[in-house]
Amino acid sequence: MSKIIVPKGTYDLLPDDTAKWRDLETKIHQIFSEYGYGEIRTPLFEHTELFQRGIGETTDIVEKEMFTFADRANRSLTLRPEGTASVVRAYLEHNLAGSGGVTKLYYYGPMFRCEAPQAGRFRQFSQYGAEVLGSLDPRVDAEVIALAVNFYRRLGITDLDVRLNSIGCPNCRPVYRSKLIERLRPKTGGLCSNCQRRLERNPLRLLDCKNPSCQDATADIPLITETLCAECGSHFEKLRILLDSIPINYHLDSRLVRGFDYYTKTVFEVLAGDLGAQNALCGGGRYDNLVEECGGNPTPGIGFAAGVERLLIVLESRKTSVFHPETPELYIAPLGEAAQLAVFPLLIKLREAGWKVESDFLGRSLKAQLKTADKMGVSLVGILGEDELQGRQILMRRMATSQQEMIPLDYDCIINFLKTEK
Ligand code: AMP
Repeated sequence: MSKIIVPKGTYDLLPDDTAKWRDLETKIHQIFSEYGYGEIRTPLFEHTELFQRGIGETTDIVEKEMFTFADRANRSLTLRPEGTASVVRAYLEHNLAGSGGVTKLYYYGPMFRCEAPQAGRFRQFSQYGAEVLGSLDPRVDAEVIALAVNFYRRLGITDLDVRLNSIGCPNCRPVYRSKLIERLRPKTGGLCSNCQRRLERNPLRLLDCKNPSCQDATADIPLITETLCAECGSHFEKLRILLDSIPINYHLDSRLVRGFDYYTKTVFEVLAGDLGAQNALCGGGRYDNLVEECGGNPTPGIGFAAGVERLLIVLESRKTSVFHPETPELYIAPLGEAAQLAVFPLLIKLREAGWKVESDFLGRSLKAQLKTADKMGVSLVGILGEDELQGRQILMRRMATSQQEMIPLDYDCIINFLKTEK
């Protein structure tokens, strides 16, 4: 019978990987808590309408990347392709705005998009993300960007490319939009089929199309930042001053528009050179109209989402040792059946007391057991042969120096020894 394998674009995490993931997850929770964010966990699927309304009907995600299905009552549901729409829904559903003020939320978990899988692009992937609701102040934009960037810096990734742009608001964007359509309409024939379709509905997306003929067509178009209204212009100016004061190095990228309709004013992306084609580690922006579009009172917001798989790819490629080794603190090597029986309760008791202890369950020779301990990176091995057992002793071997010391075969004595060796 043929073997069943994982669905395209998904993967299993095996024990060596999960150890790294858990470690990274701890660091994610830690930085958000330091910046004063509370964690929110929303369902993995939502009513399809939430994403249609929130992300936008003409976006790639809604048009062709959602995993949408009908439940048994024929309601249309969708596996969440991103986190912001769900967070905004929950913010409204639970009245998290309360009596006003700023609400700082973060999430972590799997997202689902039916994209063509490639290196750094999966159909199920994990994101952590921040959402700050309730403030129009550019200091919040700067704080959110600082959080995203500082997390990478903390992990030792300092050579990042931070790209920044402003895509205006419903007051000034339509002006730019019309200008774009006007300039590009005569060039329609030279555009890729995707952009031909998008030209009238979502012309800004043509700016970040990677197709060479579309890039040619948009090469000399005016910059969006030149048509911003006074409010958007001043917001952008203040944000740049704030980023310079941290400092966060960024460069202006007038083609950065991002794939969601909800963005207003600030948009940004953080790229890492070693990721190849899928080089974005994280992206975000301001969404001052989304809450209203989801049925709430006008409430400004800003956030970002960052990919965990891509972050791990960068960390692995740089061999950055940010992960705590899961190495056992002690390996006990019993020789013979009597020693195995004596070691077993000790092993369980030490583990119950929180020590990470390993042992042999194959009845192998001392040489083989030492080899295994060495492979695991263990620095201390307790050897229990017949002689040691008779003398109620255990031989503690320091693997780095091969130095050995005999100590009583007694739980408290072993604990004391482990503590002094730590
Ligand atoms: P987005 O939600 O599209 O703004 O993406 C934010 C970040 O999530 C990206 O910069 C990537 O790090 C990550 N990401 C987005 N889509 C995928 C995917 N299909 N596979 C892996 N990571 C992804």
